[in-house]
Amino acid sequence: MAADLTCPDCGTVYEAGPDEPWRCGCGRALEFTERPHPQGDPLPLHSLDTSEGLWTFFEFLPIEQHVTFYEGFTPTVEASDWDARFKLEYVFPTGSFKDRGATTTLSRAVELGVEKVLEDSSGNAGASIATYAARAGVDADIYVPADVKQSKLMTIQRADARPVRIDGTRADVTTACLKAVEGDANDGDSTGEGSAPYQTGEGWYASHAWNPAFYAGTMTFAFEVAAQQGWTVPDAVVLPLGHGTLFLGAYRGFSLLNEAGIVDGMPRLLGAQAAGYAPIVAALGGDTTDAEGERTDIADGIQITEPARGTEIVDAIEATDGDAIALGGDAIETALDRLHRNGFYVEPTCAIAPAALEQYRDDGVIDADDDVVVPLTGSGLKTL
Ligand SMILES: [Zn+2]
Repeated sequence: MAADLTCPDCGTVYEAGPDEPWRCGCGRALEFTERPHPQGDPLPLHSLDTSEGLWTFFEFLPIEQHVTFYEGFTPTVEASDWDARFKLEYVFPTGSFKDRGATTTLSRAVELGVEKVLEDSSGNAGASIATYAARAGVDADIYVPADVKQSKLMTIQRADARPVRIDGTRADVTTACLKAVEGDANDGDSTGEGSAPYQTGEGWYASHAWNPAFYAGTMTFAFEVAAQQGWTVPDAVVLPLGHGTLFLGAYRGFSLLNEAGIVDGMPRLLGAQAAGYAPIVAALGGDTTDAEGERTDIADGIQITEPARGTEIVDAIEATDGDAIALGGDAIETALDRLHRNGFYVEPTCAIAPAALEQYRDDGVIDADDDVVVPLTGSGLKTL
């Protein structure tokens, strides 16, 4: 039985099904009615069977395992040049952490009997959803910006998904996708009470920004970090911040472990946004451009001006004594060169986190002896 959906704001419950609303009638992103907690203490890593990757943590997940490559349990390695540990999230079937959410989202789609999924993405999430849809035998339409990177487009096409290229801004891509998700039954006014946007159009919205199934998957990032350091948490985690897919997943995962008494306390969650695309930094009252007042387009994976779960991201930052800062193109490019010279072949978007780590140290936000984990989120092989 697939878990039903509920709204954390107004409490409305929606029955699970292929036409379930993609968000609440009040406008808020939906959550599952169930939030499983593990029973008893987890095993130490050396006696944990991790052969099924992130599904090792099935007891924590409100979704049954249906669509998987046994992805996850990515390596965490020392990065002495940065005096930190890097978690290699680019070691996934499609080269990005988005596979954490795609395995759970497509598993949920199978639970619901969905025949076709729709997604909008700047590239990585689309490539991931397309790949897992292929694994599931489910059709997929992926809405992408007209200037999407060729390698990401290829991944989508070769998985026999249909890329739908949309001219305009990243927000225009989302609007076009939602129109197809909702079809004609919704009148476009889906913000009032009782007018939840049911998915009566072309397919089910496998959105990395809105679908709670995606965040169930990204939660496993936190479980792995904790397991890999003997069920403890680092002092801080520094992450790229667009829609907050990994950021909120990390928050939810560490919170669940903390509530269950498995770990003692929470890491500080420190976000990195690109100059000019920094709504969370703005919400916190920080500088949203670089030193010259410019924006940068190098971090194409996080050019999000209206994150679906912005309030939750700010709450997570405040709850963990975290922060968010905006980084300019020079800082990101310098960090990217340094990563590549050290053998970390990653994409530009993910270099923003190590760049932010340096800035946080310079600003005195992170102390020299703090234990810091930084996820490297996407492979350089898909940069072109
Ligand atoms: Zn609501």
